[in-house]
Amino acid sequence: MTSEQRARYEAHCAHHNATSKVAGAAETCMFCEKLIADPFDPAKLQLAGAVVIPFFGYFCSQPCADAFERDFGIQFKRDATGKVSYQ
Ligand SMILES: [Zn+2]
Repeated sequence: MTSEQRARYEAHCAHHNATSKVAGAAETCMFCEKLIADPFDPAKLQLAGAVVIPFFGYFCSQPCADAFERDFGIQFKRDATGKVSYQ
């Protein structure tokens, strides 16, 4: 992660946390801010194609996780198939 990416990342997270609080208990995608259906049921989320990053947040889909990694120079844990996975 470059210092420029870190600055953008911190601004993005601050913005995301602020908008999440406004929406109440609902979680939104860390990249596109689409509403995540049921953040309290990770198994159901993953069946729906969402990506769960423990202690970090949620992505509505694998492409959003890929784009977030690329934009901010972050590498999430991946499984053998190349998908982001913390299983
Ligand atoms: Zn998304």
